[in-house]
Amino acid sequence: MKLHEYQSKNIFSKFGIPIPKGCVATTAQEAKQVAEELGGPVVIKSQVLVGGRGKAGGVKLAKNPAEAEQLATQILGMEIKGLPVRKVLVDEASAIDKEIYFSITDDRAAKKPVMIASAAGGVDIEEVAAKTPEKIIKVNIDPLLGLREYQARDIALAIDLPRENWKEFTKIAMGLWQVYQNTDASLAEINPLVITQDKKLVALDGKMMIDDNALFRQADLAEMRDTDEDAPAEIEARKYGLSFIKLDGNIGCMVNGAGLAMTSMDVIKLFGGDPANFLDVGGGAGAEKVAAAMRIILSDPNVKAVLFNIFGGITRCDEVARGILAAMDEVKPKVPMVVRLVGTNAEEGRRLLENANMITAETLADAAKKAVAAAKG
Ligand code: GDP
Ligand code: MN
Repeated sequence: MKLHEYQSKNIFSKFGIPIPKGCVATTAQEAKQVAEELGGPVVIKSQVLVGGRGKAGGVKLAKNPAEAEQLATQILGMEIKGLPVRKVLVDEASAIDKEIYFSITDDRAAKKPVMIASAAGGVDIEEVAAKTPEKIIKVNIDPLLGLREYQARDIALAIDLPRENWKEFTKIAMGLWQVYQNTDASLAEINPLVITQDKKLVALDGKMMIDDNALFRQADLAEMRDTDEDAPAEIEARKYGLSFIKLDGNIGCMVNGAGLAMTSMDVIKLFGGDPANFLDVGGGAGAEKVAAAMRIILSDPNVKAVLFNIFGGITRCDEVARGILAAMDEVKPKVPMVVRLVGTNAEEGRRLLENANMITAETLADAAKKAVAAAKG
């Protein structure tokens, strides 16, 4: 789950990381009010869950409240990378001397968190990483020991941070580590962390990703989810406890078990097709869940055929068949559907589907071939 900049920075602030004064606004009028309260120049920042807002024109400086209102009107009317801007953050503007990149994320190869920093922070950090990777400093953190202060100092040295800022920087590094740990984050990023012209460190931007699998113990954070920005299919899938990921192909997949779902996608590809989604209905899925899964798959206009690959273990094939029938009643699918049922109560399942006008298959290879052919018309 991604958090907005304003949400991330609020969390940063709770852990002692300095952020600019500011407030979110949903209308230009509100933005003007915030600017009046802050006094002085402000920065108007679109709150959308994508990077590169600055380059897209979604971050603008305003000298006074009137200009803040005008720019907020403009930014609230924008779409950035397909996402409509519904909120802006109005922050007091900072006079920037230097922009630093600073983050903690999961390092899967090292099986440890990693702290990443660069003196070349700001909007071009991707380019820096691609063209001059030596400018990116990485230090792994032992998850049991936590971040050590000497590690923060090593980073300060490596990015040529002025000595006078080291103490502050160490405090921010320890704070960011606390943020990352306490929120079950997979990313806690400050870009830019700026040195202001009066030589102070401030986190000007904030980005966080929270591990979805930890949300059960992060109730406060789970509530921060901005469902406005999720694909409707994903919201629906979450409601029913389905693991669903939309892909670009045209063969909808409904499978039980993540491993089997991956295999099904591979076999579809092997026979020249392209899956429209990954969908794991999970073990022991009942009719209601299956019906929801089918609605979700069929709501994608790209889907030209659907493949059901069900291995009945705890999941009963007859229950799945009932779910398919219930969903068919409701959504009246217009695309061909291939079904392969094996395992617990498979025979009863097949019998239930006999009159459902579905293409049946015995093996996964057979089912995939038929689905690929059906999708090609
Ligand atoms: P992003 O483009 O989505 O990463 O948005 P950022 O919040 O990082 O803003 C992009 C850039 O706008 C920053 O790298 C800064 O150069 C600039 N910027 C943001 N806030 C301020 C500010 O208060 N003062 C000044 N002078 N520039 C700012
Ligand atoms: Mn940024």
